[in-house]
Amino acid sequence: MEIKRDLLDKGAILQRDKETYAIAPHIPGGIIFDSNVLRKLADVADKYGAKALKLTTAQRIAIVGVQEEQLDAIWNELDMDKGSAVGLCVRSVRICPSTAFCKRAQQDAVSLGLELDKKYHGMELPSKFKMAVCGCPNSCTEPAVKDLGIMGAPKGYTIMIGGNAGVKPRLANVLLQQVPQDEVMNIVDKIVEYYKNNARNYERLGMMIDRIGFDIVKEEILK
Ligand code: SF4
Repeated sequence: MEIKRDLLDKGAILQRDKETYAIAPHIPGGIIFDSNVLRKLADVADKYGAKALKLTTAQRIAIVGVQEEQLDAIWNELDMDKGSAVGLCVRSVRICPSTAFCKRAQQDAVSLGLELDKKYHGMELPSKFKMAVCGCPNSCTEPAVKDLGIMGAPKGYTIMIGGNAGVKPRLANVLLQQVPQDEVMNIVDKIVEYYKNNARNYERLGMMIDRIGFDIVKEEILK
């Protein structure tokens, strides 16, 4: 009997039944401006007999429990980006509603987050790499436990690196504070480049910082 696996080229994750798959089209920031996208997801789920639609922690909507032979047709009908839900790469950037919708926001995390997502989502790196942006210190997207966390504050953004909430949870180190929005991308470029050049295979950013030392990492990223 054929042993099934995840089918990364089809954006399909094998489910617990070892038979059916879930797919999770990329929805940048989890924001849907056109409600027809939701109708299309629901229609496709119905048409192909999906077992469920599941909101994911990466702010996507997964169609769960479809057959391998249906995957190509499903993607054709959805006409959406497969995205990068698994693998050694930058995952969906988590973005809070910030100044687009939230009355507590102090910075425009939506436009920054969408810019980050556009540039980095899917980029291959030594290990998986999670990013989150939020518009105020309430931290609804939990930037302190992401490889790269960017938190809005009254005078700009706080940039944190090396967090994760996995098997060995680690709070991120604060790299910079009060960073203006138009300088954030440049700093993120430096962080990602440094990580790419210095991390070992499968080494999360936080593990790399613990191995090299935060003071050295900070100095080298910012020099
Ligand atoms: S982090 Fe702040 S700005 Fe973002 S949703 Fe939460 S309260 Fe609103």
